[in-house]
Amino acid sequence: LTERFDRVLRKITGRGLLSEAQVDETLREIRVALLEADVNLDVVKSFTEQLRTRLKGAEVKEGLTPPQTVLKEVFDEVVHLLGDQKANLQLSSKPPTVIMLMGLQGSGKTTTAAKLAYHFRQSGRRVLLVASDLARLAAVEQLKVLGEQINVPVVGPEEGVSNPRDMFPKVRKKWIEGMHEVVILDTAGRLSIDQNLMKELSDLRELYKPKEALLVLDAMTGQESVHVAKAFDETIGIDGVIFTKLDGDARGGAILSIRSVMGKPIKFVGVGEKIDKLEPFHPDRMASRIIGMGDIQTLLEKAQSAVSAEKARQIVTKASANQISLEDFLEQIRSMKKMGSADELLSMIPGASSLKSQVDFEKVESEMKRTEAIILSMTRMERLHPEKLDGSRRRRIAKGSGTTVQTVNQVLKQFEQVRKMMKTALKPNGMRALKSLLP
Ligand code: GDP
Ligand code: MG
Repeated sequence: LTERFDRVLRKITGRGLLSEAQVDETLREIRVALLEADVNLDVVKSFTEQLRTRLKGAEVKEGLTPPQTVLKEVFDEVVHLLGDQKANLQLSSKPPTVIMLMGLQGSGKTTTAAKLAYHFRQSGRRVLLVASDLARLAAVEQLKVLGEQINVPVVGPEEGVSNPRDMFPKVRKKWIEGMHEVVILDTAGRLSIDQNLMKELSDLRELYKPKEALLVLDAMTGQESVHVAKAFDETIGIDGVIFTKLDGDARGGAILSIRSVMGKPIKFVGVGEKIDKLEPFHPDRMASRIIGMGDIQTLLEKAQSAVSAEKARQIVTKASANQISLEDFLEQIRSMKKMGSADELLSMIPGASSLKSQVDFEKVESEMKRTEAIILSMTRMERLHPEKLDGSRRRRIAKGSGTTVQTVNQVLKQFEQVRKMMKTALKPNGMRALKSLLP
């Protein structure tokens, strides 16, 4: 799918914003790409319709070229399809949080149970694993081995117990005694959905009342897993899904379909056989993986910096009307701090590097900090109307910021100068006028 997307989007490169015919062509190609990736037909239809609306209404985004804008629209729509926000696991307010994993045989339940246990143990929680797959003896053994590896206790059945329901009293006793905060239940699977299994899982769900009943799906299975998910949700009820084997050559169809067909979030993804190969699911990261543009990050950063450019423009407008306030001043100081040290900042201004030797950077930075402290000690009204700062207000601010009245006066004077300079600089021939002001 990634390759397909890549090809479709590469084609757009070099064109302007899309004409109606081009929108149609692009959508048709994306549609084929999605269908080939085994995305659910209804999902493909609604996705392309949404995208059509987006592309038609699209304006070239600040800081992006037209093809980048198209790419960004596709990206946003894929993120939306994947659920927009990262969905966290719910924890019970009263421990333990019980997490029940379900799924077909071989989907990766046992492996994922151990991975999740490891995930919680890493964050310092007391975890208990429960081997409730009694259909095969080897399954209990498998979980025990994994538990040992990660140093997490595993409860298995007593001799002769064949129904996992019968284990519940023992498990409960164990989690109370061990003060476990998270209990993870591995369950039995089948090659396909069958009534006995569904009954067994419903009973377990009833008994354990898990905070999270999660369906484990093999990403390689394709659209079939959407049917599986529907069946599990209808008979047992699920709170979310975990896709495994994303490290394989999964076509991505199921991942793209599940959220919009089921309305249930993807919570984690398995990306390898090893115990630490489980990741929280981030719709935006998955979208960039699917679209396969390594530089989508760069793209987003560009769009971000365009926002700052817009801010700068607002400042300029305000400055020419002499409406700059200390609020703006504070914001400028903060965004400068975010951009880097004074030294680095100067390196970014063409022609300014020769100034470097003349500037005492430590002094500049400590002055910036001091100025920030002073402005922070003002009320909003004072920041907007510095002319109202009388003696007693100035004394209060000096105290609040741990400076002196002289320093407060100095900062206000500086600010007044900056305000004047900006106003002058923005007049026609402003730069020349500004230079004549400088010593
Ligand atoms: P279960 O029958 O649902 O309990 O499935 P298992 O946990 O036993 O996993 C079945 C197979 O899938 C095992 O060989 C696992 O190592 C493998 N597996 C599980 N998750 C992943 C994954 O994220 N990536 C890869 N490559 N293999 C996985
Ligand atoms: Mg298993």
